[in-house]
Amino acid sequence: MNALSRRAVLRMMGAAGAVAALGGMPNLTRRARAQSSMIGRIVQTLKGDVTVHTYIAPPTSFLVTSHIVETPNQLVIVDTQFLQTAARDVLAYAESLGKPIERVILSHQHPDHSSGGNIFAGIPFVTTPAIAEGVQADLDAGGVQQRAGLVGESEVPAEPRVPEASFEAGTFEVDGVTFDAQVYDNAEAPQQIVLRLPDHGIVVAQDLVYTNGHAFPGTDRQNWISILSELQSAGDFDTLLSGHGMPTSPGEITQMIQYLSLADELAANTTSADDVIAGLTAEYPGYEVEGILQFWGLFIQPS
Ligand SMILES: [Zn+2]
Repeated sequence: MNALSRRAVLRMMGAAGAVAALGGMPNLTRRARAQSSMIGRIVQTLKGDVTVHTYIAPPTSFLVTSHIVETPNQLVIVDTQFLQTAARDVLAYAESLGKPIERVILSHQHPDHSSGGNIFAGIPFVTTPAIAEGVQADLDAGGVQQRAGLVGESEVPAEPRVPEASFEAGTFEVDGVTFDAQVYDNAEAPQQIVLRLPDHGIVVAQDLVYTNGHAFPGTDRQNWISILSELQSAGDFDTLLSGHGMPTSPGEITQMIQYLSLADELAANTTSADDVIAGLTAEYPGYEVEGILQFWGLFIQPS
């Protein structure tokens, strides 16, 4: 984020794309009535005794998602948003459901998902040791100050919160609902938690999948593709919750693999980030959050 120019951020804010059409959503997903003061939107996915309320931030915040998994008596939240305003939206919406928040799980270290942790004061905020270390390293490197320069002091945490490093891969139960967590290294981020609700056909893939939108260049795209292929061949779900954009179906994985394959090919054949950006926007003209393409400038340096 540090190398992003103010102009780039303004351009990204101007790229406020059209909201995805409802027609492409899975059958069991519906738009909820969000509180009128919210800057984001809520989309609900209903699956038996579980409802997932997905908060989608505005395009200025890359449509980053938080998922509130509502079991009969409790809530589990995945990811805390980038902007403080958006994090407060998520908390206020969760509180409106009238059930205790059992825990907040951070899926990976990137600040668009981790920055809002401070808003969930008093609620367990957990992740893996490696992801917690990644959050700490970003704070140590002055990440908050850099982001304050881009989005303003009021939208970054005055007292950033590092998640507890107590979460590990495996199966756990909350309120009688089974969750299964898998941990993958070196894909979009250095480490990524993927959460499944195996009895409900739900996979919370977070930033392994961007719905109908451009993606962050990532740590290792070939490995990212391998992980996606593995998820796809498991085939034991019908609802895919992504880290950016609308809830979607497993078919989105095919799109994502094609997108990453093209990105990787473009990146391998140029020393200019602009070439990669031009190639991706030409192939995916309708994709949202074009602003995220600016990050290619951090990954491809002119020789
Ligand atoms: Zn993200």
